[in-house]
Amino acid sequence: MHSNPTAGSHFKLSTKTSVYRGRFAPSPTGSLHLGSLFTAVASYLDARWHQGKWLVRIEDIDPPRMERGAVDSILFCLKQHGLHSDEAILFQSRRLKAYSKTINKLNQYGYTFECYCRRKDLQPLKYQHPPTCLPLRRLEQQSPSIRFYRLSENLHFEDRLHGHQQNSNNQHPFIIKRKDQYPAYHLAVVVDDAYQNITHVVRGTDLLPSTFNQVALQQVLEYPTLNYLHLPLICNPDGQKLSKQQQASAIDPYRPVENLIQVLKMLNIHLAQSFESNNYTPESLLRQAINYWHPQKLPKRSITTNFR
Ligand code: GLU
Repeated sequence: MHSNPTAGSHFKLSTKTSVYRGRFAPSPTGSLHLGSLFTAVASYLDARWHQGKWLVRIEDIDPPRMERGAVDSILFCLKQHGLHSDEAILFQSRRLKAYSKTINKLNQYGYTFECYCRRKDLQPLKYQHPPTCLPLRRLEQQSPSIRFYRLSENLHFEDRLHGHQQNSNNQHPFIIKRKDQYPAYHLAVVVDDAYQNITHVVRGTDLLPSTFNQVALQQVLEYPTLNYLHLPLICNPDGQKLSKQQQASAIDPYRPVENLIQVLKMLNIHLAQSFESNNYTPESLLRQAINYWHPQKLPKRSITTNFR
């Protein structure tokens, strides 16, 4: 446990594990923007506060959404900001066999079905139990996606900011293998979190609803359910989440201290020394910030900034 006495007894509930392994898992759909740096820094500080490991994983299994040069740009940017992975960086594009194996296993368990639906066709009533994709065979000439489905009455997890999360609806079948034959996000994330022995996930609140799907897969695959912290989203002055889709500006990798200071302010971290000090390096700034890491003080919903 971290030695700073002021750093928060609130953490006791979240530190049952003696080993902490966290990760930052960007998809290379573009360069880092302030919102993604916020997630990277928060996950890093949480890992360091717990004296744990912080890993970087590149989620590069969605070629249509990937941007050329984004992997290099993200890795360079993290390095410039003093955010160094404690272990070799894992690239999901090199793990396709592991995902296939897991998809086969789920097929054998009988928890999957082939589906020809497009996203806009989907309505819960179109599925039966056991689920089939009956009415939409008209698209059969294409290759199907594979969906996971299992009636789970009791899907729940604890979020360190949002508290107990319970899924009261039956779970909607979700894709684990896409029509283009790539594994889908939920499947790959669950397989890799288990493979890397991740214990703690710190990521944006937009992914909180996805966690139910991931917990459902963890249960079936007999992987542990992880410890979750879903961070407030960082929004532009119009209230839109900073994101690639909203064309959020890439952060300048040559101004790491200034960028980190912005992020620390958004994280409600106020260092003893003036933030304006020129004496900081990214590493020294982060080292100090660890002592002031108080995620329970974050707002639950969103943080509005002047950035776009
Ligand atoms: N790759 C996802 C993203 O960039 C994050 C996945 C996760 O943290 O579980 O939004």
